[in-house]
Amino acid sequence: MKSAEIRQKFLEFFASKGHQIVASSSLVPHEDPTLLFTNAGMNQFKDVFLGFDKRPYTRATTSQKCVRAGGKHNDLENVGYTARHHTFFEMLGNFSFGDYFKRDAINYAWELLTGVFKLPKDKLTVTVYAEDDEAYDIWTKEIGVPAERVIRIGDNKGARYASDNFWMMGDTGPCGPCTEIFYDHGEHIWGGPPGSPDEDGDRFIEIWNNVFMQFNRDEAGVMHPLPKPSVDTGMGLERISAVLQHVHANYEIDLFQALIAAAARETSNADLDSPSLKVLADHIRACSFLIADGVIPGNEGRGYVLRRIIRRAIRHGYKLGARAAFFHKMVPDLVAEMGDAYPELKAGQQRVTEILKQEEDRFFATIENGMAITEQGVANAMVAARLRADGYELLAEQQVGKFRIDFVATKGDKKHPVEVKRIAGRSERDVDIGVLHLALSQAVQYQTLQGAGLNSPPKLFFVCDPGVIEFIQHW
Ligand code: ATP
Ligand code: MG
Ligand code: MG
Ligand code: MG
Repeated sequence: MKSAEIRQKFLEFFASKGHQIVASSSLVPHEDPTLLFTNAGMNQFKDVFLGFDKRPYTRATTSQKCVRAGGKHNDLENVGYTARHHTFFEMLGNFSFGDYFKRDAINYAWELLTGVFKLPKDKLTVTVYAEDDEAYDIWTKEIGVPAERVIRIGDNKGARYASDNFWMMGDTGPCGPCTEIFYDHGEHIWGGPPGSPDEDGDRFIEIWNNVFMQFNRDEAGVMHPLPKPSVDTGMGLERISAVLQHVHANYEIDLFQALIAAAARETSNADLDSPSLKVLADHIRACSFLIADGVIPGNEGRGYVLRRIIRRAIRHGYKLGARAAFFHKMVPDLVAEMGDAYPELKAGQQRVTEILKQEEDRFFATIENGMAITEQGVANAMVAARLRADGYELLAEQQVGKFRIDFVATKGDKKHPVEVKRIAGRSERDVDIGVLHLALSQAVQYQTLQGAGLNSPPKLFFVCDPGVIEFIQHW
């Protein structure tokens, strides 16, 4: 079953249960300063849950564009390396605004998965909030899931897990206990069931979260009961597609094939399993959809997150050998894949391409400058290696408020200035170039030092402004 068909089947199933099909909202949340990007299907209904807004329907279903690359739900660093995380993804959801509650929600989910999608029941494991006996009983007694596959998860697992079965949109807002459905991709894939020590593997993949919205959490962390208990669910389209297409990773589904091929084409790379190609396939979706929804690359807020995603894509392209703007050339492939489902993408195609190209051209120019001084970096590395061999520690310091990075080698009380490693600049941009040079020359140094028989990388300490540190971290 193609993803487009799965999306359609989901919406039709809930329409047949009296749900209004509502269009996805923008990735830029409407008048919600607590939220960087739309991160779940329920965002556009936040005020309905809170009782501030009324709709002509009490049941809704959506396929919602989501981005999780900042704020409370941030998956950026997972992307390309886990089988299940994207920056941009589509969340299928059904919602009850004070209409049905736990029993119907669980029954609908089970009927769709095992009746319509025909998933084998014994491949499904569910979790419930530890204290939620009602949900536990519905699963075990009414649906008939064997008790060993209904796992209670609560606050007793320590901070990292504390909120796993208690869903919160952000630090404030609607929230409540949830029940989650996991699919077992098979013994040959590493990972354990939820709650086990190796649950972070890719064998048991969370496909659907059913949240029983009951509270509004305020800034002080106090939970106020909502006017009416409600339901909010979210199922990643890419994850259910992987299951229904009998593949074990989201990147193997139909939606990604053309994008990975496009990334391979634009970077002249034949290794289709390279994580960098997955990153590119993921990031072109996030960047294009964000630009289509009005975000432009910039130095703060949403624009800054977008810029970081673009730069992360370029970095991966660079690793694969790209030396000039290439990323924007993937836009037509994305539009071909998703333009029908999301017409705003088609309408924005030209703008998206231009903005991406401009950003890429600028960044590639920065890289080129960085490379030009890397020659010097190699020479520096030789000096560094000699100093290390003599027992010196190498330190790089940027003096606060000055666009300059000095290097100093120290041994005990002895200091040895490393003149050749001084990078001076007149502007912030020059410092970026300098930092870029550092990042590159650090790699060169690492090799050189190993070649010189030293087995630990040089320690480089940066004391510089947070923007620059951010730049290094994401380079
Ligand atoms: P995970 O534990 O795998 O990170 P989650 O618990 O953070 O997922 P929820 O907030 O419960 O996810 O969101 C509901 C559903 O949205 C998930 O069950 C999953 O199917 C999908 N989903 C969440 N995050 C992502 C992502 N980064 N990429 C793709 N799908 C996602
Ligand atoms: Mg998550
Ligand atoms: Mg989870
Ligand atoms: Mg979840």
